[in-house]
Amino acid sequence: MPDTYPAYLELHEQGELARRARVAVESLAACVGCARQCGSDRLAPNPASFCRTGRRALVSSCFPHLGEENCLRGWNGSGTIFFTHCNLGC
Ligand code: SF4
Repeated sequence: MPDTYPAYLELHEQGELARRARVAVESLAACVGCARQCGSDRLAPNPASFCRTGRRALVSSCFPHLGEENCLRGWNGSGTIFFTHCNLGC
């Protein structure tokens, strides 16, 4: 396999990507996905989590981010995805 073959494709072909996705979804039943570690059941119909995020995170916006440091953004931007339901509470 060439050195430039994307690692995620290799994981997909091995079935490892699907296994990790399954484990990630199962972990939502007692979420400790951020530093709050509130343990909420995000698979429930109306989760009582601090961040109010349920089974699926919602994307607020996505775009090439040109304001990061050179080593992060390269020539065309770093690629940024912002999610709704911030868990910072500020
Ligand atoms: S605040 Fe949200 S992301 Fe953080 S642990 Fe609770 S449910 Fe998970």
